[in-house]
Amino acid sequence: MRPHLYGLLPEDLLTALRSRVPDARLGEARRLLARAVAEDRADLSGGRPVRTAVRAAALEGFDRHDLEVIERIEDPTDGSLRYLFRCDDGALVEAVRIPLLQPGHFTVCLSSQAGCAMACDFCATGRLGFGRNLRAWEIVAQLMVVRREAPGRVTGAVFMGQGEPFHNYDAVIQAARVLAHPCGGRVAQKAITISTVGLVPQIRRFTAEGHRFRLIVSMTSAIQERRRGLLPVAGRWDLAELADALRAHHEATGARVTVAWVLLGGVNTDPAEVEALAALLDGVPFKINLIDVNDARADGYRRASDAERDAFIDALQALRVPVVRRFSVGRGRHSACGMLASRRLAELQDAL
Ligand code: SF4
Repeated sequence: MRPHLYGLLPEDLLTALRSRVPDARLGEARRLLARAVAEDRADLSGGRPVRTAVRAAALEGFDRHDLEVIERIEDPTDGSLRYLFRCDDGALVEAVRIPLLQPGHFTVCLSSQAGCAMACDFCATGRLGFGRNLRAWEIVAQLMVVRREAPGRVTGAVFMGQGEPFHNYDAVIQAARVLAHPCGGRVAQKAITISTVGLVPQIRRFTAEGHRFRLIVSMTSAIQERRRGLLPVAGRWDLAELADALRAHHEATGARVTVAWVLLGGVNTDPAEVEALAALLDGVPFKINLIDVNDARADGYRRASDAERDAFIDALQALRVPVVRRFSVGRGRHSACGMLASRRLAELQDAL
């Protein structure tokens, strides 16, 4: 199988090119990738000159095709546009274009896996089970297709679609590097957010590698037994281990830790959660992103009422914890669990 250009950094491309053109230069690899990814010209035309033999080697030796879009679903209530893609092997994945507050600016929510192995109790993707890891180019290609069709600029990317990004660590980090590269997606590193449900070894690795991408950890409960019921991953790495990893991340980066909290009515909005969270992250500056779930659910969970949410926010603010209510994608017509839920995807997979 030929390597795909969208998953490569210039030095990767140069190494591969040199098997065909031994004196290929890094500048040529950079220019070719800028044409292919930054400027979205799959025929590698235009831009600053590249020797004919080098361009021919890139055209012959590397794949440049897109993911196939099989459905676009717009949600008029929030302006989000959901894409359903079919990969070469038939795997279905989603991305969502999300309008930002600044007019004409968008972020893209990307999938890192087809399906997901984490089996979070409130997540439709978790119920699909694990399909496979996406390759780096398949992640980058999601953004490229969305960007091509956006009536403005794509200035951010969030790994919060299908899959647990740190379960596909190498491909996700490679994709994030390509997305941030001047010859690649040209998205600022700090505008690329990687979420995790709490894979502690990978959080530690991410910290040790010194990435400047943003990290969000889905906590959703600070009470171990409750969290284990919601997020089975908590049975593997408990809250104390997770908190240690977050403390180390803060100490290494100096950054405030961002905690995501999927608000589940009657489940995780009580004062005991706030007390447990404050105790768990004692001494670690953190902020919390609250994520609403959809009303219409078949899994027994419900959206937190306004009163539950407001009381939870008040309790957090009494502790001076910054609270952000995240833009909740697709609430109007589709499920939204914070990570993308995939009812439509499940229907399509059943039908195929
Ligand atoms: S919430 Fe995220 S990590 Fe959990 S099952 Fe869903 S996609 Fe996977």
